[in-house]
Order: sequence, then C-alpha cells, then structure tokens
Amino acid sequence: MKVNDDMNKEAVIFNIQRYSLHDGGGIRTMVFFKGCPFRCPWCSNPESLSTDVQIMKRESICMCCSAPDCMSCKNTPDECPTGAIEKIGEKMNTDRIISEIKKDVVFYESSGGGVTVSGGECLLQQEAVYELLERCKNLGIETAMETTAAVTIKDMNKLCDYVDKFLIDFKIIDRKKSMEIIGLDTDILKKQFEKIISRGKKVIPRIPLIPGFTAEEKNINSIIEYLKPFCERGEIQEVHLLPFHQMGSGKYKSLGMEYSMEKNPEMSDEEAYIIEEKFRKNNIKTVLRGD
Ligand code: SF4
Ligand code: SF4
Repeated sequence: MKVNDDMNKEAVIFNIQRYSLHDGGGIRTMVFFKGCPFRCPWCSNPESLSTDVQIMKRESICMCCSAPDCMSCKNTPDECPTGAIEKIGEKMNTDRIISEIKKDVVFYESSGGGVTVSGGECLLQQEAVYELLERCKNLGIETAMETTAAVTIKDMNKLCDYVDKFLIDFKIIDRKKSMEIIGLDTDILKKQFEKIISRGKKVIPRIPLIPGFTAEEKNINSIIEYLKPFCERGEIQEVHLLPFHQMGSGKYKSLGMEYSMEKNPEMSDEEAYIIEEKFRKNNIKTVLRGD
C-alpha cells in the first residue's frame, strides 16, 4: 500500500521483538512503545516508563576499557565495544516499523500469529498506534494489544476496528489502593474493559501475581468476583496468571533508578497453583505463564 505523509506518524519505540511466542498466540512481532503513566513497584520493564530516549549501562558486560567502571564511563553507545552502554528508545515512523513487521509475515501465516503492540502503555502514543494497526490490518495481519485500558481512549471505534485481541491487565482492583500504589484508576479500567467486551472483541485479562500486592487473597477474590460474570456469559474464555519474578531488577540499576522490590520473594509454584485453583473452582479457565 502506498502511504502518504499523513500515514507515517512517529512514535518512540524501545524494542521490536521478532519471533515472539507469547502475548497473542502464534509467532508474533512485538512492538514496544515507550512511556507509561503508571508506576507499578514490580514493573519488570523500567526502561519502558519514560517516553524519553535513555542510556542504560550494564556493568556485567563492561570490560573497563575506557574507565574504571561502567557507571563512570563517558563514552557513547557507539564508542562502547561491548554494548555495555546502550541507547534505549528510538523515534521510528510507521514505515520503518512496518518494514520490520513484514520480515515476519511468513511466520504469521504458518503459525496463526501476528503483531502485538505493547509498552509501557502503548495507548500513550495513540495516534501512531492506530496508524500502525490500520496498516497491519490493510496488510491482512492479525493484531493484538497489551494495555492497562486505564488511559483515555480517543477513538473506541478505531481501536476496536484495528485490534483483534486485547490483553488487559488486572492488578490491584480496589480503586483507592490502586490509585495510591500504582496511580491507576480502576473505574476507568473497568469502564473501558466493559466497552471493549460489549463490542464483542476477544479479551484476555492478565493478572500479575505479586506477593504482598496483587496476590493478596482479598484482591484475588475481588478480581474473581468481577470477572466471573463475563466468563459465565462466555465473553471471556480464559485469564492469564503471571507469577512475579525478579528478572527486571538488574535493569533498574543499569538505568540509575530505584527499585523497591529487590527483597520481595518471587512467587513460588505452590503459591501460584493455590491461586490458580481458586479461579478453577469458579469455573474460570486459567493459563499460568512462566515467562
Ligand atoms: S566503553 Fe563500554 S566496555 Fe569500555 S569502559 Fe566504557 S562501558 Fe565499559
Ligand atoms: S502498567 Fe505496565 S509498564 Fe506501566 S508501570 Fe505497570 S507494569 Fe510497568
């Protein structure tokens, strides 16, 4: 499809991950938009939070060639021979993103995959997201979106026209607590989640299981109570449970950011199974994800 300048918007992207086997089904290309208005203390992608382009310094692969340590090194990413200094985020127009996506089209056809837009919160860069998804649809590519659904949606029609499948996070469901801890208004989330469901879209709720936060019994019970009627009506087929891990912790240090969850234990398999069982007892199909 020939595109004009109006169809070539720019967005700040921090990763395009090809050949991904999660987050939407089949083999997928994940496009990660940079920037998130929320602050989950357990966020495993701290590099996604700011919309600014950032520098990340990885001590583990620094060979101290120009400075006594990685953090004090003044070299640019291009000057670093090991990749210990890395630029995170890049402005890309949709032409460029589409050209990356096209490299994977052959895999989508054989696996039932497609493109997943993610973040951060991809809806912060909504105009570019709509344009990218529209262009994917014009190419016959299946689309999915990972979102909090808790930011202003400028055009629900466009969103539902261009997205085949939504993966929507449910974290702390109590509005006051969610506002205090994450800054996320669950009233907005619920309203928009319900609107998307009412349009007949496929939606998979995803629940990060964070000990001391989302995995608390009261919170899990409240999420089950909220989601159960949608499952009973067949509007939701399954929910995904994502046990807490510490895989993102090193990135905080590399970015010079504080990480408050360093001492928090990862979720054990036993704890995760107990929570999964609660969903099952309420006839809610679960997928326990270990990635
Ligand atoms: S250039 Fe890279 S490898 Fe060399 S000291 Fe700086 S950060 Fe370390
Ligand atoms: S909403 Fe997602 S990207 Fe934003 S802070 Fe929470 S976990 Fe991180």
